[in-house]
Amino acid sequence: MKRHGMYPGSFDPITKGHVDVIERAATMFDTLSVVIGVNSKKTPLFSVEERQAMAQESLLHVPNVQVVVHDGLIVDWARLHGVHVIVRGLRAVTDFEYEFQIALMNKKIESSIDTIFLLPDERYTYLNSSIVRELGRYGQDVSEFVPFPVAQAMANRFRKK
Ligand code: ADP
Repeated sequence: MKRHGMYPGSFDPITKGHVDVIERAATMFDTLSVVIGVNSKKTPLFSVEERQAMAQESLLHVPNVQVVVHDGLIVDWARLHGVHVIVRGLRAVTDFEYEFQIALMNKKIESSIDTIFLLPDERYTYLNSSIVRELGRYGQDVSEFVPFPVAQAMANRFRKK
């Protein structure tokens, strides 16, 4: 049986921390789907199409990864695609409570689904998309924190304004 895992998130935009988690997770599955969620509560910097294109370009070196967009519950995507393992990244203890809550809720909705947590390389533990967006907004070069296609997109976005 093929092992198929999913890594859901908003990826607005994808960072080197996400890529690190994806590279690690990709070795554990035959296919890893990076599932970009349409979150109605957040006002994103990049559209889902832009986020998907940037993630795809940033992950060309990981052959068994696909990047898809999903508008709905994570467990619904998992059920539809026969996925039983959700991957999430844990940066610090501060992530734990939130992640624990989502993982338990997902398990309550669909008991056959488990969530596994991966730690990124410690270089990336302080990184998150909102810090990257904030730096970009103020014209700071973010290429140290994000893959090249994202750094380019950020520079274009904020140069226009
Ligand atoms: P964020 O906006 O916090 O960057 P996302 O919603 O895109 O996050 O996150 C998807 C998953 O990736 C979450 O499990 C989150 O904890 C994890 N993640 C985000 N940034 C990192 C990082 N730098 N290292 C490891 N995991 C991360």
